[in-house]
Amino acid sequence: MNIIFMGPPGAGKGTQAEKIVVKYDLPHISTGDMFRAAIKEETALGLEAKKYMDSGQLVPDEVTIGIVEERLAKEDCNDGFLLDGFPRTVAQAEALDSIMANLNKKIDYVINIDVDPAILLERLTGRRICKSCGATYHMVFNPPTQEGVCDKCGGELYQRSDDNAETVGNRLEAYFNQTAPLIAYYTEVGNLFNINGQQEIDAVFAEIDNVFGGK
Ligand SMILES: [Zn+2]
Repeated sequence: MNIIFMGPPGAGKGTQAEKIVVKYDLPHISTGDMFRAAIKEETALGLEAKKYMDSGQLVPDEVTIGIVEERLAKEDCNDGFLLDGFPRTVAQAEALDSIMANLNKKIDYVINIDVDPAILLERLTGRRICKSCGATYHMVFNPPTQEGVCDKCGGELYQRSDDNAETVGNRLEAYFNQTAPLIAYYTEVGNLFNINGQQEIDAVFAEIDNVFGGK
């Protein structure tokens, strides 16, 4: 089975994807890993992508899509795959449809882990890090015994600048703006499954697993 995984930052997408690939023995194809592999193997597209990345530019769509196509054509994808972090736009989704048609395959399931943005904001802004030893805490889910003080070493806890409410809010807004058309696209195709991500990790997993019907 060929699966796409979608979900905003803080929805637990990575954790769930990891559990699914273990259970169903599928290759976990994340965009980052795919780029790193193509660069390491020095494929023509990998070298092309590296040029853009080295100069701090965004890798153009046609390069990204080429790398996805090379990856999905590999033998380990014959019995299915889990694609994580791609596509991000409708243009990429359409390109993926062509790739799949060329490979005589189709996307069976698009799993969208749904979490209320207010809850994501709470999850993502609650992180605190110890200045001395680097231990991480969460104000709601894993608070230190004494506010602002590390349990392990007594060091001072701080919030990373990219964990502040404004930065996180902007990141979330960008995510939802970008993915709304993609969700509409796969709703139209009829292979989108919305999963309630506001549950315990095991309950979220059970709901996803149920979509596959234990196949
Ligand atoms: Zn510490």
